Amino acid sequence: SAVLAIDIGGTKFAAAIVAPDGEIHRAGRIATPPTADADELWHTLSSLIDHICEGESVSGVGIGCGGPMTWPGGEVSPLNMAGWRRFPLRAQLAVRFPGVPVRIHNDAICVAVAEHWRGAGKGTRNMLGMVVSTGVGGGLILGDRVIDGGTGNAGHIGHVIVEPEGPACGCGGRGCLEAVARGPAVAAWALDHGWRPVTPEIHDDAYREYGSATARRLAADALIGDEIALAAMARAGHALGLAIASATHLCDLDLVTIGGGVSQAGAPLFGPLEVTLREHARMDFSRRLHVVPAALGQDAGLVGAAALVLAGDR
Ligand code: ADP
Ligand code: ZN
Repeated sequence: SAVLAIDIGGTKFAAAIVAPDGEIHRAGRIATPPTADADELWHTLSSLIDHICEGESVSGVGIGCGGPMTWPGGEVSPLNMAGWRRFPLRAQLAVRFPGVPVRIHNDAICVAVAEHWRGAGKGTRNMLGMVVSTGVGGGLILGDRVIDGGTGNAGHIGHVIVEPEGPACGCGGRGCLEAVARGPAVAAWALDHGWRPVTPEIHDDAYREYGSATARRLAADALIGDEIALAAMARAGHALGLAIASATHLCDLDLVTIGGGVSQAGAPLFGPLEVTLREHARMDFSRRLHVVPAALGQDAGLVGAAALVLAGDR
Protein backbone atom coordinates (compact mmCIF):
# COMPACT_ATOMS: atom_id res chain seq x y z
CA SER A 1 0.00 0.00 0.00
CA ALA A 2 0.91 3.67 -0.05
CA VAL A 3 3.93 5.13 1.74
CA LEU A 4 4.69 8.47 3.32
CA ALA A 5 7.46 10.44 1.60
CA ILE A 6 9.18 13.36 3.34
CA ASP A 7 11.58 15.90 1.81
CA ILE A 8 13.62 17.92 4.31
CA GLY A 9 15.09 21.03 2.70
CA GLY A 10 16.89 24.03 4.13
CA THR A 11 13.89 26.28 3.57
CA LYS A 12 10.91 23.93 3.49
CA PHE A 13 9.49 20.58 4.53
CA ALA A 14 7.43 18.65 1.99
CA ALA A 15 5.46 15.45 2.55
CA ALA A 16 3.25 13.27 0.39
CA ILE A 17 1.35 10.03 0.23
CA VAL A 18 2.86 8.06 -2.64
CA ALA A 19 1.20 5.00 -4.20
CA PRO A 20 3.25 1.88 -4.99
CA ASP A 21 3.40 2.95 -8.66
CA GLY A 22 5.03 6.26 -7.63
CA GLU A 23 1.97 8.41 -8.16
CA ILE A 24 1.68 11.26 -5.63
CA HIS A 25 -1.79 11.24 -4.08
CA ARG A 26 -1.70 13.93 -1.48
CA ALA A 27 1.09 16.42 -0.91
CA GLY A 28 1.80 19.43 1.23
CA ARG A 29 4.68 21.70 2.08
CA ILE A 30 5.52 24.17 4.78
CA ALA A 31 8.26 26.75 5.17
CA THR A 32 10.70 26.15 8.03
CA PRO A 33 11.27 29.13 10.31
CA PRO A 34 15.05 29.68 10.11
CA THR A 35 15.37 30.39 13.82
CA ALA A 36 13.24 27.46 15.07
CA ASP A 37 14.68 25.16 17.73
CA ALA A 38 14.55 21.36 17.60
CA ASP A 39 11.11 21.09 19.24
CA GLU A 40 9.55 23.69 16.97
CA LEU A 41 10.97 21.99 13.88
CA TRP A 42 9.69 18.60 15.01
CA HIS A 43 6.30 20.11 15.81
CA THR A 44 6.15 21.76 12.37
CA LEU A 45 6.99 18.47 10.66
CA SER A 46 4.59 16.47 12.87
CA SER A 47 1.61 18.67 12.05
CA LEU A 48 2.41 18.48 8.33
CA ILE A 49 2.57 14.68 8.61
CA ASP A 50 -0.67 14.49 10.62
CA HIS A 51 -2.39 16.51 7.95
CA ILE A 52 -1.01 14.43 5.05
CA CYS A 53 -1.63 11.07 6.77
CA GLU A 54 -5.16 11.80 7.95
CA GLY A 55 -7.28 8.74 7.18
CA GLU A 56 -4.39 6.92 5.49
CA SER A 57 -2.46 3.90 6.68
CA VAL A 58 1.09 3.86 5.38
CA SER A 59 3.28 0.82 4.88
CA GLY A 60 6.57 2.69 5.15
CA VAL A 61 8.26 6.06 5.44
CA GLY A 62 10.97 7.38 3.12
CA ILE A 63 12.88 10.57 3.89
CA GLY A 64 15.12 12.63 1.63
CA CYS A 65 17.31 15.03 3.56
CA GLY A 66 19.94 17.59 2.63
CA GLY A 67 23.45 16.59 3.62
CA PRO A 68 25.60 16.43 5.51
CA MET A 69 23.49 13.97 7.45
CA THR A 70 24.68 10.88 9.28
CA TRP A 71 23.63 7.85 7.30
CA PRO A 72 21.95 5.38 7.55
CA GLY A 73 20.99 6.46 11.09
CA GLY A 74 19.67 9.79 9.87
CA GLU A 75 20.85 12.36 12.37
CA VAL A 76 20.35 15.77 10.83
CA SER A 77 23.39 17.99 10.98
CA PRO A 78 23.83 21.68 11.78
CA LEU A 79 24.58 22.82 8.22
CA ASN A 80 21.16 21.76 7.06
CA MET A 81 19.20 23.38 9.87
CA ALA A 82 20.72 24.99 12.92
CA GLY A 83 17.93 23.80 15.22
CA TRP A 84 18.39 20.17 14.27
CA ARG A 85 21.98 19.68 15.28
CA ARG A 86 22.31 15.89 15.62
CA PHE A 87 18.53 15.54 15.75
CA PRO A 88 17.61 11.81 15.46
CA LEU A 89 15.07 12.41 12.69
CA ARG A 90 14.87 8.83 11.39
CA ALA A 91 14.58 7.39 14.90
CA GLN A 92 11.86 9.88 15.87
CA LEU A 93 9.85 8.97 12.80
CA ALA A 94 10.33 5.26 13.55
CA VAL A 95 8.70 5.88 16.93
CA ARG A 96 5.87 7.81 15.27
CA PHE A 97 5.39 4.96 12.70
CA PRO A 98 6.00 1.71 14.59
CA GLY A 99 6.23 -1.57 12.71
CA VAL A 100 6.93 -0.19 9.24
CA PRO A 101 10.27 0.48 7.53
CA VAL A 102 11.56 4.04 7.95
CA ARG A 103 14.49 4.89 5.65
CA ILE A 104 16.44 8.06 5.03
CA HIS A 105 18.88 9.08 2.31
CA ASN A 106 20.71 12.05 0.93
CA ASP A 107 18.27 14.26 -1.03
CA ALA A 108 20.39 14.22 -4.20
CA ILE A 109 20.43 10.42 -4.12
CA CYS A 110 16.63 10.47 -3.79
CA VAL A 111 16.38 12.67 -6.89
CA ALA A 112 18.61 10.26 -8.84
CA VAL A 113 16.53 7.29 -7.69
CA ALA A 114 13.37 9.08 -8.78
CA GLU A 115 14.70 9.92 -12.25
CA HIS A 116 15.81 6.30 -12.64
CA TRP A 117 12.47 4.93 -11.50
CA ARG A 118 9.98 7.28 -13.12
CA GLY A 119 11.82 10.06 -14.93
CA ALA A 120 14.33 10.69 -17.71
CA GLY A 121 16.40 7.68 -16.63
CA LYS A 122 13.62 5.12 -16.88
CA GLY A 123 15.01 1.94 -18.44
CA THR A 124 18.64 3.05 -17.99
CA ARG A 125 20.90 0.80 -15.93
CA ASN A 126 23.84 3.15 -15.30
CA MET A 127 23.23 6.79 -14.60
CA LEU A 128 24.19 9.84 -12.62
CA GLY A 129 21.25 11.99 -11.54
CA MET A 130 22.42 15.57 -10.96
CA VAL A 131 20.86 18.61 -9.32
CA VAL A 132 22.25 22.06 -10.14
CA SER A 133 20.56 24.59 -7.90
CA THR A 134 21.78 26.53 -4.85
CA GLY A 135 24.30 23.69 -4.59
CA VAL A 136 25.39 20.97 -6.98
CA GLY A 137 24.71 17.35 -6.04
CA GLY A 138 24.16 13.96 -7.53
CA GLY A 139 23.42 10.30 -7.04
CA LEU A 140 24.69 7.22 -8.83
CA ILE A 141 22.76 4.21 -10.07
CA LEU A 142 25.01 1.45 -11.43
CA GLY A 143 23.61 -1.84 -12.67
CA ASP A 144 20.15 -0.65 -11.59
CA ARG A 145 21.34 -0.36 -7.99
CA VAL A 146 21.69 2.76 -5.89
CA ILE A 147 25.31 3.33 -4.87
CA ASP A 148 25.43 4.47 -1.24
CA GLY A 149 29.14 4.86 -0.59
CA GLY A 150 30.56 4.39 2.89
CA THR A 151 28.54 7.21 4.44
CA GLY A 152 25.66 7.61 2.00
CA ASN A 153 27.41 10.32 -0.02
CA ALA A 154 28.46 8.59 -3.25
CA GLY A 155 27.76 10.58 -6.41
CA HIS A 156 28.61 13.90 -4.79
CA ILE A 157 29.80 15.37 -8.09
CA GLY A 158 29.53 18.96 -6.79
CA HIS A 159 32.93 18.56 -5.19
CA VAL A 160 34.78 17.13 -8.17
CA ILE A 161 37.59 19.58 -9.03
CA VAL A 162 37.12 21.49 -12.28
CA GLU A 163 39.57 24.39 -11.69
CA PRO A 164 42.57 23.53 -9.50
CA GLU A 165 43.23 27.19 -8.65
CA GLY A 166 39.55 28.10 -8.85
CA PRO A 167 37.16 29.80 -6.43
CA ALA A 168 36.87 28.73 -2.79
CA CYS A 169 34.08 26.24 -2.14
CA GLY A 170 31.74 25.99 0.84
CA CYS A 171 33.24 22.56 1.59
CA GLY A 172 36.58 24.17 2.47
CA GLY A 173 38.18 23.13 -0.81
CA ARG A 174 38.86 25.10 -3.95
CA GLY A 175 37.82 24.84 -7.59
CA CYS A 176 34.96 22.39 -7.02
CA LEU A 177 32.19 22.15 -9.63
CA GLU A 178 29.77 23.56 -7.05
CA ALA A 179 31.92 26.65 -6.49
CA VAL A 180 31.67 27.43 -10.21
CA ALA A 181 28.26 26.16 -11.33
CA ARG A 182 25.87 26.66 -8.41
CA GLY A 183 23.30 29.35 -9.22
CA PRO A 184 24.59 32.03 -6.84
CA ALA A 185 28.17 31.51 -8.10
CA VAL A 186 27.11 31.88 -11.74
CA ALA A 187 25.26 35.11 -10.95
CA ALA A 188 28.16 36.43 -8.84
CA TRP A 189 30.64 35.78 -11.67
CA ALA A 190 28.39 37.66 -14.10
CA LEU A 191 28.10 40.64 -11.74
CA ASP A 192 31.89 40.71 -11.30
CA HIS A 193 32.19 40.83 -15.08
CA GLY A 194 29.89 43.80 -15.50
CA TRP A 195 26.48 42.19 -15.91
CA ARG A 196 23.61 44.64 -15.47
CA PRO A 197 20.31 42.71 -15.36
CA VAL A 198 17.99 43.58 -18.25
CA THR A 199 15.04 41.23 -17.69
CA PRO A 200 12.68 42.71 -15.07
CA GLU A 201 12.92 41.22 -11.62
CA ILE A 202 10.73 38.17 -11.23
CA HIS A 203 8.13 38.33 -8.44
CA ASP A 204 6.73 34.98 -7.57
CA ASP A 205 5.31 34.10 -4.16
CA ALA A 206 5.96 30.42 -4.60
CA TYR A 207 9.59 31.17 -5.25
CA ARG A 208 11.61 33.27 -2.84
CA GLU A 209 15.21 34.14 -3.43
CA TYR A 210 17.40 36.77 -1.83
CA GLY A 211 18.95 39.50 -3.95
CA SER A 212 17.74 40.60 -7.36
CA ALA A 213 20.67 39.57 -9.54
CA THR A 214 19.90 35.86 -9.60
CA ALA A 215 20.87 32.98 -11.85
CA ARG A 216 17.23 32.85 -12.83
CA ARG A 217 17.33 36.40 -14.17
CA LEU A 218 20.75 35.78 -15.68
CA ALA A 219 19.33 32.83 -17.62
CA ALA A 220 16.57 35.04 -18.99
CA ASP A 221 19.16 37.63 -20.06
CA ALA A 222 21.23 34.93 -21.75
CA LEU A 223 18.20 33.90 -23.79
CA ILE A 224 17.85 37.44 -25.15
CA GLY A 225 21.52 37.47 -26.11
CA ASP A 226 23.21 39.39 -23.30
CA GLU A 227 26.94 38.71 -23.88
CA ILE A 228 27.99 38.57 -20.24
CA ALA A 229 25.04 36.38 -19.30
CA LEU A 230 25.92 34.02 -22.15
CA ALA A 231 29.57 33.92 -21.02
CA ALA A 232 28.54 33.18 -17.43
CA MET A 233 26.27 30.32 -18.51
CA ALA A 234 28.97 29.03 -20.85
CA ARG A 235 31.47 28.99 -17.99
CA ALA A 236 29.07 26.97 -15.83
CA GLY A 237 28.31 24.64 -18.76
CA HIS A 238 32.03 24.13 -19.37
CA ALA A 239 32.58 23.22 -15.71
CA LEU A 240 29.66 20.77 -15.82
CA GLY A 241 31.05 19.21 -19.00
CA LEU A 242 34.45 18.67 -17.37
CA ALA A 243 33.00 17.05 -14.27
CA ILE A 244 30.63 14.86 -16.28
CA ALA A 245 33.49 13.69 -18.53
CA SER A 246 35.41 12.63 -15.42
CA ALA A 247 32.35 10.93 -13.95
CA THR A 248 31.64 8.89 -17.05
CA HIS A 249 35.24 7.71 -17.32
CA LEU A 250 35.10 6.67 -13.68
CA CYS A 251 31.70 4.94 -13.79
CA ASP A 252 31.04 4.03 -17.46
CA LEU A 253 27.63 5.74 -17.48
CA ASP A 254 24.83 5.47 -20.02
CA LEU A 255 23.09 8.64 -19.00
CA VAL A 256 23.32 11.82 -16.94
CA THR A 257 20.12 13.65 -15.98
CA ILE A 258 20.36 17.27 -14.84
CA GLY A 259 17.65 18.94 -12.79
CA GLY A 260 17.49 21.86 -10.36
CA GLY A 261 16.73 25.51 -11.01
CA VAL A 262 19.90 26.30 -12.94
CA SER A 263 19.26 23.45 -15.41
CA GLN A 264 16.28 25.43 -16.67
CA ALA A 265 18.70 27.86 -18.31
CA GLY A 266 18.46 25.61 -21.39
CA ALA A 267 20.68 25.98 -24.46
CA PRO A 268 23.06 28.67 -23.10
CA LEU A 269 24.07 26.12 -20.45
CA PHE A 270 23.61 22.77 -22.22
CA GLY A 271 25.30 23.89 -25.47
CA PRO A 272 28.71 24.65 -23.93
CA LEU A 273 28.30 21.62 -21.64
CA GLU A 274 27.98 19.34 -24.69
CA VAL A 275 30.96 20.96 -26.45
CA THR A 276 33.24 20.48 -23.43
CA LEU A 277 31.95 16.97 -22.76
CA ARG A 278 32.60 15.86 -26.36
CA GLU A 279 36.09 17.40 -26.24
CA HIS A 280 36.97 15.33 -23.19
CA ALA A 281 34.93 12.15 -23.48
CA ARG A 282 36.57 10.56 -26.53
CA MET A 283 36.79 6.88 -25.81
CA ASP A 284 34.24 4.54 -27.33
CA PHE A 285 32.63 3.91 -23.98
CA SER A 286 32.53 7.54 -22.93
CA ARG A 287 31.40 8.90 -26.31
CA ARG A 288 28.12 7.05 -25.95
CA LEU A 289 27.04 9.09 -22.90
CA HIS A 290 23.80 11.05 -23.17
CA VAL A 291 23.12 14.13 -21.05
CA VAL A 292 19.46 15.13 -20.72
CA PRO A 293 17.34 17.45 -18.59
CA ALA A 294 15.66 15.76 -15.63
CA ALA A 295 11.98 14.97 -16.15
CA LEU A 296 10.41 15.12 -12.69
CA GLY A 297 10.98 18.69 -11.46
CA GLN A 298 9.89 19.69 -7.96
CA ASP A 299 8.43 16.27 -7.07
CA ALA A 300 11.59 14.27 -7.71
CA GLY A 301 12.74 14.41 -4.07
CA LEU A 302 9.43 13.04 -2.77
CA VAL A 303 9.18 10.33 -5.43
CA GLY A 304 12.75 9.21 -4.66
CA ALA A 305 12.12 9.21 -0.91
CA ALA A 306 9.09 6.97 -1.53
CA ALA A 307 11.25 4.67 -3.66
CA LEU A 308 13.51 4.04 -0.65
CA VAL A 309 10.70 1.95 0.86
CA LEU A 310 8.85 0.91 -2.30
CA ALA A 311 11.78 -1.38 -3.20
CA GLY A 312 12.06 -1.24 -6.98
CA ASP A 313 15.41 0.47 -7.06
CA ARG A 314 16.88 -1.01 -3.91
P1 ADP B 1 16.92 24.94 -4.24
O1 ADP B 1 18.37 25.23 -4.37
O2 ADP B 1 16.31 25.62 -3.06
O3 ADP B 1 16.62 23.49 -4.31
P2 ADP B 1 16.28 25.60 -7.04
O4 ADP B 1 16.47 24.23 -7.60
O5 ADP B 1 15.17 26.43 -7.59
O6 ADP B 1 16.13 25.62 -5.47
O7 ADP B 1 17.66 26.35 -7.32
C1 ADP B 1 17.85 27.67 -7.01
C2 ADP B 1 18.88 28.26 -7.95
O8 ADP B 1 18.46 28.06 -9.30
C3 ADP B 1 19.03 29.74 -7.77
O9 ADP B 1 20.40 30.10 -7.92
C4 ADP B 1 18.16 30.31 -8.89
O10 ADP B 1 18.58 31.60 -9.29
C5 ADP B 1 18.38 29.31 -9.98
N1 ADP B 1 17.26 29.25 -10.92
C6 ADP B 1 15.95 29.09 -10.64
N2 ADP B 1 15.21 29.11 -11.77
C7 ADP B 1 16.09 29.25 -12.79
C8 ADP B 1 15.97 29.33 -14.22
N3 ADP B 1 14.79 29.27 -14.83
N4 ADP B 1 17.12 29.46 -14.94
C9 ADP B 1 18.32 29.51 -14.33
N5 ADP B 1 18.50 29.48 -13.00
C10 ADP B 1 17.41 29.35 -12.24
ZN1 ZN C 1 33.62 21.72 -2.62
